[in-house]
Amino acid sequence: MMDDTRDASHKAELLKQLQDEIGDCRRCKLATTRSTIVFGEGNPSARVMFIGEGPGRDEDLQGRPFVGRAGVLLTAIIEKGMLLKRGDVLIANVVKCRPTVDMAFVRDRPPDDEETAACGGFLKRQIEIIAPEAIVTLGNPSTKFLLGIREGITKARGHWYSFNGIPVMPTYHPSYILRNGGDSSPLKKEVWDDIKQVIARLGLRDDITAPPARDAAPERALDESLKSALSDKKEDGDTQGRLF
Ligand code: URA
Repeated sequence: MMDDTRDASHKAELLKQLQDEIGDCRRCKLATTRSTIVFGEGNPSARVMFIGEGPGRDEDLQGRPFVGRAGVLLTAIIEKGMLLKRGDVLIANVVKCRPTVDMAFVRDRPPDDEETAACGGFLKRQIEIIAPEAIVTLGNPSTKFLLGIREGITKARGHWYSFNGIPVMPTYHPSYILRNGGDSSPLKKEVWDDIKQVIARLGLRDDITAPPARDAAPERALDESLKSALSDKKEDGDTQGRLF
């Protein structure tokens, strides 16, 4: 068994190989507009991964995930809420290039199916390499991509799911909070409730051990997707109530 340092450097090497394989990617149309590929960043041995949907304007320019306004909020969740450093976690997205409406590179949009199919496998390989103890999906696209559920984020958030045996906690995307009241948004409390579940599960803070469960729902598995085919038509259509 590898010690922690060797394990971290091995994972860093595997991530580097994956990044090299992505190269100057031309696998989908986003390559025609992007400035920079945003691979993701953080600790290769992170205990927690945060997954957004795709780079926005700031991320495209800087080549780093969550560095715009949503990133400020995400960083606060990590540093003030979880009492970790941003560099302790791993932050990535479903797609690595900025998706924009009509490919005009002005207004952001969620990745489409073709882009997600072209790029999503790389995220899954990042997860496999990092093997975190928990994943937090931010908003609908990453939640639906990883879990294969049709349930919208409003229903899914606050419940534990599983991706390849890794516990997954869906919560609202920070941009959704910014667009719905910002600092005084009631959604902040809901996100904090979800994050407290992660804190408790991983034992990140002594003062937060038993967060209130959202309801009595047991941990859900992938086959939840079958049941939830019934639900949330409205929210499905509202996925693009745009999260950033
Ligand atoms: N929104 C995302 O989903 N990802 C980023 O990296 C930035 C904003």
